[in-house]
Amino acid sequence: MTRLILSITIFSLFFAIDASKVNAQTDYANSNATNRAKFLAQATSILESVPLIDGHNDVPIQYRSRVRYKLSQLDFHNTSDLQRPMHTDIPRMKAGRLGGQFWSVYVPTNVPESESVQITLEQIDFVHRLVDAYPDFLEIAHTADDVERIFGNGKVASLMGMEGGQSIGNSLQVLRQMYELGARYMSITHGRTLDWADSATDTPRHDGLTGFGEEVIREMNWLGMMVDLSHASAPTMRDAIAVSTAPVIFSHSSAMGLNNHPRNVPDDVLDMVKENNGIVMVTFIPSFIFEELHQHISNRNAERARLDYYYTGQPDLVSEKMREWDAANPAPVATLETVANHIDYIKNRIGIDHIGIGGDYDGISLLPEGLKDVSTYPDLFAELLYRGYTEEELKKIAGLNILRVMRDVETESIRLQSERPQASEAIIGDYQD
Ligand SMILES: [Zn+2]
Repeated sequence: MTRLILSITIFSLFFAIDASKVNAQTDYANSNATNRAKFLAQATSILESVPLIDGHNDVPIQYRSRVRYKLSQLDFHNTSDLQRPMHTDIPRMKAGRLGGQFWSVYVPTNVPESESVQITLEQIDFVHRLVDAYPDFLEIAHTADDVERIFGNGKVASLMGMEGGQSIGNSLQVLRQMYELGARYMSITHGRTLDWADSATDTPRHDGLTGFGEEVIREMNWLGMMVDLSHASAPTMRDAIAVSTAPVIFSHSSAMGLNNHPRNVPDDVLDMVKENNGIVMVTFIPSFIFEELHQHISNRNAERARLDYYYTGQPDLVSEKMREWDAANPAPVATLETVANHIDYIKNRIGIDHIGIGGDYDGISLLPEGLKDVSTYPDLFAELLYRGYTEEELKKIAGLNILRVMRDVETESIRLQSERPQASEAIIGDYQD
């Protein structure tokens, strides 16, 4: 979740939907009900045979912002009837056949950096307490084997990913303790450039990773914590893949070849991911997947800046003119098919073995049509079946690919710890750059 996304989604809520601008739907969406029911049944049975593992879900930050983590005040059996409904709860996870979830332990970008470690600890504590509160449905997982065992027992394997290197406070000691507490991936940055790594959505300071940043990657490999490059700048992505001896992940990103958004993965980096045997877990965030919407937001921001200048000191008039602009320029609407287009694109470029799913549910307000909450995953897989994907291919996208990456990361960690039994002694002050 970023402030940028929040502001985009908040204003997007006020737009009327213009049907003519909805991303072109495939024949499948318009095909008859019997046809759709057949594909949906097949998709559902595939998702019952392998765990569907989503790379990114922001339920923990929702509980922080809504009820200060008081589980007694927000029942995870039903979050759909709230005044501001959430996307995730137990019945809808069951309906969506979710088998494993990386819960994001996320720190808002606008809090002082000195508080990031504490908030990450609170987020991790929350995930443990959520799992404790719903033991018949959730169980903590640390390894790929854990995920398969828990899925086999009919529960949702609960993993944790730290969203941004601010969570370790420039300290490998903190990084290692976060691993001990269960964090199994770390996004190298969130929306802000750090002392040791550039973000995709902030001014670059290092042209990628610093020397200490490279040491963070090595220590993550050594620990067996996955390197997540969602939110990192393209030079940071390239530097991290060059250093990492284990496969990397993108927990929630899509293809820059289809939408030139800095949060997406450029083609040359996709090629590196194939070489590295990593994975891109395709995200559903409308402005990242739909170029027309990305351009619309750019145009709207430009119009806003123009009006602010032209009508300086007249905020009411600016608001009125913006309402007129919005009425004349409805926001284009992303759909389930838009997401499937990114999966097609990545498959065509680097093959089926490097694709997963990273919805970002509860990290954004607005979702594509057809993917409104976690109950809708089977609809996306039905669309892919309609497009000609095989059952084996869908099993890989659903979970087998990320399980392979997890196992490779675990194996590489064992190899590295046998080579170097001691943790790194490096501190950020050892590095001049
Ligand atoms: Zn994010």
